[in-house]
Amino acid sequence: MIEKSVTLSRPAEPEALEQLRFYLPYLCDQVLNLEIVSDSRSEFRYTCREENSSSRIEAIARTLLGQQEKSDVEFLNQVQTRTAFDNRTAPCTCNHDILPELLNGGHLISFGPGQYGMGNLFLKTFKYFERECYRMTLKQNPQEFVYPNLIPRNLMESSDYTNSQGSGFTWFTPSPPGVYVESPEHLGKPAVCLHCYPHFRERTIPQDRPLTITTQGRCYRYEGIEQFSPDRLWEFIMRESVYMGTPVFVRDSLREIETLATGWMKSIGLRAWVQQAGDPLSVTNAGLASPENMPVKWELRIALPASGTSLAAASFNYHANHYSKPFEISEGGNSAATGCAGFGIERLTWGFLAQNGLDTEKWPEAVRQAI
Ligand SMILES: [Zn+2]
Repeated sequence: MIEKSVTLSRPAEPEALEQLRFYLPYLCDQVLNLEIVSDSRSEFRYTCREENSSSRIEAIARTLLGQQEKSDVEFLNQVQTRTAFDNRTAPCTCNHDILPELLNGGHLISFGPGQYGMGNLFLKTFKYFERECYRMTLKQNPQEFVYPNLIPRNLMESSDYTNSQGSGFTWFTPSPPGVYVESPEHLGKPAVCLHCYPHFRERTIPQDRPLTITTQGRCYRYEGIEQFSPDRLWEFIMRESVYMGTPVFVRDSLREIETLATGWMKSIGLRAWVQQAGDPLSVTNAGLASPENMPVKWELRIALPASGTSLAAASFNYHANHYSKPFEISEGGNSAATGCAGFGIERLTWGFLAQNGLDTEKWPEAVRQAI
C-alpha cells in the first residue's frame, strides 16, 4: 500500500473538493482511501495499491477539479476506465421470436400494453431468477426490508427524482366516496431503492458498520404504449441492493455485486456483457467536472438474438451524495455515499428464454435442474 500526499497547483473550491472525495475513488479502483486535508483547499491524501497507478489517479483528480494539464487530456483519453465483463461470443440455441409460443402455451398471458400474467415455463424460469438474485444479494450480508409499492410524491420531490427523470410515472389516486382528487399525491415507485433514503433519513452510518440493504418489489415505468413489449413492461419486479457508507465502501460493494452477477451469467452461458450507460469518461468533455457528466451507471445487457438487439437486465449505479444530501444521511462528518444495484427479474427471464428457447432439453444443465 502506498500513501501519497498531493498539493494542487492552486486552491480548489470546497464544492470541487467534495466532488473529488466522492468521485475519485469511484473512478479509480486503485484508490483505497481518500482524505481532504482539513482547512486546506489545496491538499489531499490518498492510499493506493501500486505506485504506478498514481499518475492516472492524480490526472483524474486534476480533471475533476478543473485543473487538468495538457498532458492529462492526452493521457486520460488513452486510458480505458476499466475492463468490463464481455460474454458476447457465447453461442445461442434459439434465434426465433418466442413470443407467439409463450402466448399460445399460456406461459405469458397478455392483459394490455406492458401487462402480462405469468404461468407455466415463464413463471418457473422467473422464479429461478428471482431466487438466485435473492441468494446473490444475501452474500453481501444485507439487512432486508419490504417497502410499499406506492411512494408519496413529496419523498420523490425531496431527491429531485420526479424533476430529473421528467416523465414516465404512474400516478395513484384513491377514490374516496364523493371526493374528487385533482392532484395525485402518490406514484408507483419507479425503482425499489427509493424508500431506503427516506427510511435512513438523518442517520449517521458508522464507518466500521456501513449499510447494505436488499429489497424487492414492484416497479412502474410508463414509456409509451408503442414502447411496451415483454422485455419492457409497465410494471415489473425488481430486486435491489443498496449501499450507504464511504465512497470506497460503496464502490467496492458495487464491484462485488457486479462480479457475482457476471459470474452467474457466465456460468449459465448467457450472451451478455456489461457496458457503461451514458458517456464514457473523456476529458475532452469540458463538463466532466459536473456530476451529471460522471460515468456512474453501468448496465448488464443480454442479447436478444431474434431481433439482433439487447436489453438491460441489471444496472450498477453510484449516486455519490445525490440521495444522502437531501435526506441528511451522513458518515464520518460528511454526507455518506450511496449506490444501488438493480435486477429486473422479468428481463432476466426474457433474456434467458430468448437465447435458449422453450425446449428445456436444450437448456444449460444448471438452470434445467433448478427450475
Ligand atoms: Zn436503485
